[in-house]
Amino acid sequence: MIYWDHAASTPPYEDIIRTLTEVMDKHYGNPSSIHQLGGDAVKLIKRSREVCANALYVKPTEIIFTSGATEANNLAIKGAALQYMSRGKHLITTMVEHASVYESFLQLQQWGFEVTFLPVDSHGCVRLESITAAIRKDTILVSIMHVNNEMGAIQPIDVIGQEIKRCNALTLFHVDGVQGFGKVPVDLKTWGVDLYTLSAHKFRGPKGTGLLYVREGLKLMPLLTGGSQEFGLRAGTENTPHLVAMAKAMRMASEGQPNFTKKVSIQRNRILGFIRNIEGLHLHSNEFGAPHIVQFSFPGMKSEVLMHTLELQGMLVSTRSACSSKQTAPSRVLLSMGLSHQEASSGIRISLGDSHTEEEISQLEHALRAAVEQLHPLLEQGRN
Ligand code: PMP
Repeated sequence: MIYWDHAASTPPYEDIIRTLTEVMDKHYGNPSSIHQLGGDAVKLIKRSREVCANALYVKPTEIIFTSGATEANNLAIKGAALQYMSRGKHLITTMVEHASVYESFLQLQQWGFEVTFLPVDSHGCVRLESITAAIRKDTILVSIMHVNNEMGAIQPIDVIGQEIKRCNALTLFHVDGVQGFGKVPVDLKTWGVDLYTLSAHKFRGPKGTGLLYVREGLKLMPLLTGGSQEFGLRAGTENTPHLVAMAKAMRMASEGQPNFTKKVSIQRNRILGFIRNIEGLHLHSNEFGAPHIVQFSFPGMKSEVLMHTLELQGMLVSTRSACSSKQTAPSRVLLSMGLSHQEASSGIRISLGDSHTEEEISQLEHALRAAVEQLHPLLEQGRN
């Protein structure tokens, strides 16, 4: 089997698994305990926070550990909305966000907030003019993802960040950075980002672990109350083994990013090249998108059929974002880019990691050509 679903989750490095089990085994004390084992855990967490902060060039006190990006996105969006609602109740996001962002905004709408969902162009990018036009005096938060998880579009976060602050200096800017970190350069300070979300399992760390960068001086309404962990922003016993493992993976991802981008972009371009040449396939990603994501469709053929045909040939691809793959409606993201219902129902995502070989790419091409050839007669039958 060859795994082409790195945007859904990545295989943890062996070293990360070793670290995780070692910390679980030896440093099981509760960091809130005031004896020696508790103290050991506190030191490990402190060091992990420093490593994560260094990878983002921010301060350790600006890092809040969470149970993953879903929680970090919920905390950023609902926490900011509830904290700053006395300034205004208008929020802005896009139509192509991950479910953990999109659904948070839908919930806030039910709670009486007004939400503007910005459209995207045919490449999946938000137009700067639409952001400028949407920002008002009472806009308290804008949330825009860096890299789209379904088709790899990269939003110009630096320009967007500057424009938001130019229009309203008090409007907070949250970025879901899950698919961008380690894949493309990240520069929070220059971008003017106030809140930034990451998930460890997207950069070869453990699942169920992530973080939220919260710019110094910002307040959020905590969603989980209880103990005073994470500077009072997220109650609950810290997950020491996972945090230590995430920090290690984060340092590796950050240091490895330039090589990742270079190597994987070349492989991505090869894949884009052969998909363009297979009759019947429509390509939706391009060379300007994230290096690790390729999205295409085989109009008329349900995504699941092509996915399973490829699986029988040993190729594990994805129909869409893993969190939405059990939904039957066509992808909201692809429909927002202007794709037809038929195209959006037949989307396939190939996502690359740092260890694919040229030989594996050749095998993927071979499998894809064979699968399309095998399925073509079914399309013809469907038309008759
Ligand atoms: N945002 C994006 C862009 C994602 O791709 C994902 C994972 N599919 C998440 C948020 C949620 O991450 P987690 O699995 O850590 O909850």
